Amino acid sequence: MQSRRTILRAGAGLALTATAVGVGTLPVFADATGSGTGWAGLAARIQGDIVLPVDPGYNAAKELQIAAFDAVHPQAIAYPETPQDVQALVNYARNNGISVRVRSGGHNFNGWSTGEGLVIDTSRLNHATVGTSTVKIGPGLQSIDALHALAPYNKQVIAGTCPTVAPGGFISGGGIGFQTRKFGLGSDRLRSAQIVLADGRLIRASETSYSDLFWALRGSGGGNFGVVTEFEVAPIDQPRMVFFSTMWAWDKAEQVFAAWQTWQLNASVNLGSALIYNLPDAAPGNVPMVIITGGYHGPESEAQAALAQLTSLVGAQPTSTFASDLPYADAMKTAYGCGDLTQEQCHREGTGAEAHLHRTAFQRDAYRMFNQPFTPTQISTVLSTLDSNRVAGQRRVVHCMAVGGNANNVSPTATAYVHRQANFVIGYVGQLDAPTPESEAAASAFVQTGADVLNPISNGAYVNFPGSSLPDWATQYYGDNYLRLKKVKKAYDPNNFFRHPRSIGSLGQ
Ligand SMILES: Cc1cc2nc3c(=O)[nH]c(=O)nc-3n(C[C@H](O)[C@H](O)[C@H](O)COP(=O)(O)OP(=O)(O)OC[C@H]3O[C@@H](n4cnc5c(N)ncnc54)[C@H](O)[C@@H]3O)c2cc1C
Repeated sequence: MQSRRTILRAGAGLALTATAVGVGTLPVFADATGSGTGWAGLAARIQGDIVLPVDPGYNAAKELQIAAFDAVHPQAIAYPETPQDVQALVNYARNNGISVRVRSGGHNFNGWSTGEGLVIDTSRLNHATVGTSTVKIGPGLQSIDALHALAPYNKQVIAGTCPTVAPGGFISGGGIGFQTRKFGLGSDRLRSAQIVLADGRLIRASETSYSDLFWALRGSGGGNFGVVTEFEVAPIDQPRMVFFSTMWAWDKAEQVFAAWQTWQLNASVNLGSALIYNLPDAAPGNVPMVIITGGYHGPESEAQAALAQLTSLVGAQPTSTFASDLPYADAMKTAYGCGDLTQEQCHREGTGAEAHLHRTAFQRDAYRMFNQPFTPTQISTVLSTLDSNRVAGQRRVVHCMAVGGNANNVSPTATAYVHRQANFVIGYVGQLDAPTPESEAAASAFVQTGADVLNPISNGAYVNFPGSSLPDWATQYYGDNYLRLKKVKKAYDPNNFFRHPRSIGSLGQ
């Protein structure tokens, strides 16, 4: 059972509706004074809540976006409501030898935000405080809620294409959206971050204070250095956006790929887009959809001219085109597929009474970064891999996002995000609605075949799209910045308290 709670943050002037999983089903602790030990004593010492396996709300509380990680059973899931709560949780876990995973939106492809110890879920730290030149946002403020909170102020923050991703992971790992070519990565706009360290200290890192940690927090990925309790970011000034979506015939799939690359490489930074080959059921005979969708951050006439140029580059008309100049929040809601939903509905099922969005039962990914456009032969191989060895019931996607633009006007060593020459993020995704051991093996094999196609021509990998298998991940994610990241890790978390299977320093090097 879930309950909902409206959190009003003093001074923020903004009321955000937060989703509080399992709050109505907490155990009654005997130790109300907080003087006791154990989870009960800890629960009494914090403003937030702790959900234990005995609680009816536990199964919902441990859910991530990908249901395969339901198999992980944390000892406890805590919902801190203040940075001091987070300090108490970190101190308790450290003193009792309990491992910690940090969670915000729960979208990590590899389940790094859950584990068998304590999960610190920062979803209730979801405030948005609008200042004169910056906006302070909680790590748990999901993209859809940020849109609604900031729209009245005509300010927005960089967000990706999923409404329920949260800054806790998104900004920490970089953060790519349709806005990135114009306004940079989410992490490029970070001005300071408040964070609870492994020793329990609450500090604020910025260019002038704890600057080495501030460098690391911009692109190294979450779960490495502490629990971020607030991000201060420079908002983007973009009151409107032209959202567009075009579809193309499968028999033009290769021309569309080549045209999209050329189009994006020569485009104004106002243009951000994704090319998606989507095969919802890979049963033999089904035809993949070919979609180019995105946002234009400028006048509609320019967007229409750009779309006409795309058609000319493809050499064929799209089978359908939608383009609309909308207030920014409406444009992004449409991009999220939430155009017809309320804010409440545009959340993951199980996190609120009205939440509509589905979880993914099983998913495997192989994304890589690319500096150069693919050659015609490479395009042909990428698409034939999508199309061959069909398996009914498997959802297959080739997902290509344009990056670059102003995000590449930054030195690779200026922040932890190293991929400043990349122009494309391209990946294979395999998903299942009803996984069985056999279908999981087949989906994994499909994605591994995709990885084998991409690996020889790639220039690295994006830590926010962690591949299912990536043996040389430290080099792929961080390049030459890894050495410096390890030094920062040693300085701030010498005992490797914050860790997951691919955390900084976990290679033992
Ligand atoms: C459907 C979907 C669409 C996506 N679209 C995009 C996109 O368009 N652009 C893009 O760039 N990315 C995209 N992503 C990837 C997304 O940015 C990452 O998965 C991101 O890390 C998710 O953050 P989260 O807080 O929602 O997830 P979580 O799983 O909660 O966290 C991700 C990582 O960050 C850590 N973490 C979480 N909160 C904190 C915190 N408060 N302090 C420190 N560490 C923390 C976790 O331990 C974990 O390692 C998408 C993912 C999905 C599933």
